[in-house]
Formats: sequence, C-alpha cells, structure tokens
Amino acid sequence: MSAARILVIEDNTHNIELVDYLLRAHGYVSLLARDGLHGIRIARAQRPDLILLDIRMPEMDGFAVIAAIRGDPALRTTPTIAVTASVMNGDRQRIAAAGFDGYLRKPIEPETFIDEIERFLARPAALDRVGQRL
Ligand code: MN
Repeated sequence: MSAARILVIEDNTHNIELVDYLLRAHGYVSLLARDGLHGIRIARAQRPDLILLDIRMPEMDGFAVIAAIRGDPALRTTPTIAVTASVMNGDRQRIAAAGFDGYLRKPIEPETFIDEIERFLARPAALDRVGQRL
C-alpha cells in the first residue's frame, strides 16, 4: 500500500512549509498549491486522498474552492478539511454547510496535527505507521 497523498491549498508561505514538512516527516506524499485555482487543477489531475484547504486566500477563497470540489463528480467525495483561524459559531455552520468534512484551527499545532488529519483519512499513512498502530 502506498502512502496517502494529501493536497494542501494555502497561500501563507510559513503555513504551507510547516504542513508540507509535517506530512512528509510522517510518510505522506504532499501536493502543494498556493492559490485556489492551482489547487483545483492539482485536485482534478492527481485525485488526492485528502485536501487541506485554507479559507482566507486572495481571489479564490476556500469557500469558492470547496464549491468547485463538491461540484465535480470526480472530487465530490474527497475528504476536505477547512484550515482557518476563525471558527466562531457562524463560521462553523458556514463551513459545515459548504460541504467540508471538518476543520482545523490555526495556528497549526505540530504536536497534534497528524493525529487530527488522520481521523479524516480512509487510507492509513506510510507502512511503518500502520505497523506501529497494529
Ligand atoms: Mn490564507
């Protein structure tokens, strides 16, 4: 079994580099996009196992991206997690209504990040992590 492939759509350089580092350190294959349009293009071409989607991005924000993802028959069921600093009550409802499977709060916590995203992965991580779990 090969490692799950995770698409990260995020415009902030620090955040995308941190998430890329954490994913690769845990045996995942990370695919990176710094804006929504590029992210949708990669999602269609690569069919990732999971998408981590920043909400606040210039031009095309996370809500516009999730609308495109959920409107695409090939991507409609791909687990997609919102990554956002603002999770007030209204935001949470809007995130759920938009079709996200969940959300992660910023700032990203390196200690808990991998455990959090693995709850959304049907396919486990790299082989050594599967071994550890068994
Ligand atoms: Mn952002």
